[in-house]
Amino acid sequence: MTTTARAAVYESPNQPFEIREFPLRPVADGELLVRISMSSICRSDIHSWQGKRPNPCPGILGHEIIGTIDQQGSQMRCDLRGQTLAVGDRITWTEFFHDGTDYYQDLHDLPQKAGGLRKYGHEAADSEPHFLGGFAEYCYVMPGTGVLKLSDQLRDEEAVPLNCAAATMASVCEASQIGLGDAVVIQGLGLLGIYGVAMARARGATRVIGIDTIPARLATARRFGATCTLNADDFVGDDLIAAVRRETPPDGADAVLEVCGVAGVIPAGLEMLRKGGRYTTAGLVSPGADITFDANLLVQRMITLRGIHNYHPRHLIQAHDFVLRERTNLPFGELIEACFPLAQINHAFRQAADRSVMRACVTP
Ligand SMILES: [Zn+2]
Repeated sequence: MTTTARAAVYESPNQPFEIREFPLRPVADGELLVRISMSSICRSDIHSWQGKRPNPCPGILGHEIIGTIDQQGSQMRCDLRGQTLAVGDRITWTEFFHDGTDYYQDLHDLPQKAGGLRKYGHEAADSEPHFLGGFAEYCYVMPGTGVLKLSDQLRDEEAVPLNCAAATMASVCEASQIGLGDAVVIQGLGLLGIYGVAMARARGATRVIGIDTIPARLATARRFGATCTLNADDFVGDDLIAAVRRETPPDGADAVLEVCGVAGVIPAGLEMLRKGGRYTTAGLVSPGADITFDANLLVQRMITLRGIHNYHPRHLIQAHDFVLRERTNLPFGELIEACFPLAQINHAFRQAADRSVMRACVTP
């Protein structure tokens, strides 16, 4: 077998990635070695690269990953559905892993909050097994990871964001209890927001109002089923709240989802809700998201306020099956708007960072 492989190494914040080689070791029990076919650049990778969130250096970023099994350890035999795994299978996997029992995982059904949880794209690269991130030729899939075999029908571009953006949005939509006849507002039409539009419609929402400031993203949201889109830059003061409330008769939205990562939108989002409405925030993944609002609104309007971080492995299955079912109606593959070889990763990150593309991907 190959004894070394290449990775784009994150040496320190705001510095160019460097292509380096690390040794590959044989897989241990319960592990897989995956030959990566594609990884996409998530907003959180960009935050790490820009030094907005701590990430070990040197490291290999990237957690939206797909690839084929190259080596299989003796105890990694089945995926999340119990399907047999074999060398050559094309897979994705949960962005986090935790081996063994845990208070949050076992008692509170929050495996993404298990103590000692580790995440792909968030590990140091200078110690074995080196390859635990997406921007490389290989990735080890560790014990305690939820592995999912990909349908042959899904193109790489449709499959690569499943294990972060799409699964997280399945988790958010479940937490928001979106159902038949709902009016849903989505603050932020990046990749999460676009999946949110499509999933809200699929769950039976009658109205889905998408808000962003980038005209191309408003257009994409309409292609994915938004019944109305609003450019936040077109409004001053409380006019945006009034515009949303006009679209959500008789008294505001049933659910508002924050996936833009800007804390300042929360007070306006709460004002868009009807009495008994649900507000779910999922985009504020970095500390320092301070806001001020009159919490009396929560009481007077009996609002439920919820935060969602990552997802349960069941949401990865839901995301896969949702995209598989809707792929003939909705152009999921077009959401990956640029593709770069590993050697051009610095260019890829610059394009992804300035939001000129919805998602950029990297292929080894
Ligand atoms: Zn992500």
